[in-house]
Amino acid sequence: KLEERIPVKHRDELGRLSGTLNALFDRIHGFIQRQHRFTADASHDLTAPLTGIRSSAEVALMKERTPEEYRQSLENIIGRTDKMQAIVDDLMTLAGLDAGPRPAKSAELELSKLAEEAVNRWQAPAANEDIELTAEIKPGVSIFGEPEQFDRLLDNLLSNAVKYTPPGGKVNLTLAQQDGEIIIRVTDTGIGISPEHLPHLGERFYRIDRRVEGTGLGLSIVQGTAQIYRGGMEVESAPGEGSTFRIILPDGSGS
Ligand code: ADP
Repeated sequence: KLEERIPVKHRDELGRLSGTLNALFDRIHGFIQRQHRFTADASHDLTAPLTGIRSSAEVALMKERTPEEYRQSLENIIGRTDKMQAIVDDLMTLAGLDAGPRPAKSAELELSKLAEEAVNRWQAPAANEDIELTAEIKPGVSIFGEPEQFDRLLDNLLSNAVKYTPPGGKVNLTLAQQDGEIIIRVTDTGIGISPEHLPHLGERFYRIDRRVEGTGLGLSIVQGTAQIYRGGMEVESAPGEGSTFRIILPDGSGS
């Protein structure tokens, strides 16, 4: 047999090589499958509002309508266009993250200031929902990176915390720096998340309740951003007990 004619040493090497190749093949296969699913999900989520736009326009054109009916059709069209715009914006952000860190577009950022500004941006929307938004921000924390990426990361976490917390609840943002790490923590007293969903939260288009407005891309942007700065996202949550999202970044990351 061929195998017996190969010296043992080389047989071991061949075995190792074939193991490495198989592992590589599995990774490529997984990657291609995820790309297929991503394209299918993106097309699906863009088709729904597009179909709505087409049917609103058809309804408006079918017969003579009152000004109020025309207005209604146009408002439907604008609402669905906004929905498509939100998906496309998030997809562009993800495409930017896929390109990896861009040192030319990066600068030394005062993360403490960005966090404070983000909390200020969300004060009014939180108050509108009767949610108390508080912050504990360590001053002088800085990081080398792109300001828009951190603004979006903070906005996505605060937007989710406000969206998934019923009136009367609380949201807190903490920025800390310890043991060579920068930690951004957003805690809410909201609806919480069941354990079976937790491992999937960073996946693109993953949404638990499709009746709630959203693109399902917010947390994949958060996780993707943390990853290009060599950090990660951790989630602790239980249904009815609120959620805590922790973004952990190595101090001095990106530089
Ligand atoms: P979406 O645009 O749907 O909010 P995200 O990627 O931001 O998408 O979040 C994915 C899903 O995770 C959401 O659909 C929601 O079910 C759940 N989720 C995110 N943040 C929270 C939170 N703070 N509390 C409860 N559920 C959350």
